[in-house]
Amino acid sequence: MLSRRRFLEQTSLFAGSAILANSVLAGANAANQDPLVPDPKLLARAEALLEKAPLIDTHNDLPSMFLETKAGDLTSFDMSVVQPTLCADIPRLREGCVGAQYWSIWVESATQKTHTSLHEALREFDVAQRFINSRPELEQARTADDIDRIHLSGRIACLFGVEGGHMIENSPAALRTFYQLGARYMTLTHWDNVDWADAATDRPEHYGLTEFGERVVKEMNRLGMFADISHVSPDTMLDTLRVTRAPVIFSHSNAFAIDPHPRCVPDDVLRLMPANGGVVHVNFIWEFVSPKYPEWQQKRTAALKDLHARLDTDQAIAKGIADWEKANVPPRGTISDVADHIDHIRKVASVDHIGIGSDFYDVTPGSMVVGLEDVTRYPYLFAELLRRGYSDEDVLKIAGRNHLRAMRQMEKVAAELQKSEAPLITEGLKAK
Ligand SMILES: [Zn+2]
Repeated sequence: MLSRRRFLEQTSLFAGSAILANSVLAGANAANQDPLVPDPKLLARAEALLEKAPLIDTHNDLPSMFLETKAGDLTSFDMSVVQPTLCADIPRLREGCVGAQYWSIWVESATQKTHTSLHEALREFDVAQRFINSRPELEQARTADDIDRIHLSGRIACLFGVEGGHMIENSPAALRTFYQLGARYMTLTHWDNVDWADAATDRPEHYGLTEFGERVVKEMNRLGMFADISHVSPDTMLDTLRVTRAPVIFSHSNAFAIDPHPRCVPDDVLRLMPANGGVVHVNFIWEFVSPKYPEWQQKRTAALKDLHARLDTDQAIAKGIADWEKANVPPRGTISDVADHIDHIRKVASVDHIGIGSDFYDVTPGSMVVGLEDVTRYPYLFAELLRRGYSDEDVLKIAGRNHLRAMRQMEKVAAELQKSEAPLITEGLKAK
């Protein structure tokens, strides 16, 4: 993995890569036009603005990587130096100008079938907490004021985001416990439906939120935890926006009009963001960014069906699809496509409702769009926005100030509601 400066010195190294040859080099080399080789002045200006903003990223899956690679044994990693097997470490977070990070608390939504979601979630909280406690450069933040204070002290503010409502196992007591542990958002679903809300990538079952789902959102309002409507179905997005008393967030979602993937946000929902005051934090995973992904994926599914019809062994099918992917290189998308999503959200919802939620989750080459491969790369995205005419003020807002505004509003709503509303104590019904 190249550092930003080394990358600038050695862009020729990348010129031979198949990915670049396919998606970036075409028409890109006019001076200062290529977002991968930005004008050094714009890059310096972006870095200076990010240092000030602060830059808040609402989604990084490092806690899961700790558990998946070394079963949560933090002594296996020296986080003060670059860790090639992890999606973040202190030097690269610093190089990327990260001021605050929401660490994702994520467990497979299939764990709801075995009733182990809460148990696994506690392991995620525990490893994330041990990581924060182990580093003098990090400090846990619980409020917007904490984020500002920690950033000014030169440390990186850390918060938790629970990625999937299955982890509360239908218990408002678990939701409140997550809040106490430092969770400041919960994504209502992950990939599968939960007992009280539909996901974007599952079959419609409740057609939005159930009555208990509405109560969960209201309890989140009362606690001061963002209802995160990334991953949920459009019906669930609309139901949440109807019942919430506080701003919502999309912790890691892009615009459906640019990439028609079910995980992306349709325009009719984007249009509701100004009235709600919430923020759509854009994501860097190529499938959710590249406008060409849905078409490529359809062709891949057809190729796979054909292989299943013709071949007998899993091995032969795996080889067949690998050959197909060699002949049909995934259209990975670039920094420029992420900027197109930001342009679109600005057009539909305004610049006041955009943030960053990268979703770094592994170290496999090609997981993220070209140019935003790791946590050192945020300044490149902002240099591209400056090149497109975004003002310094716009950059500060997208980097973190929109999030802080929404968070302060959420905190204010919670303080008011706590005067008049009792905690929700009714448990939701568990599916068998
Ligand atoms: Zn996700």
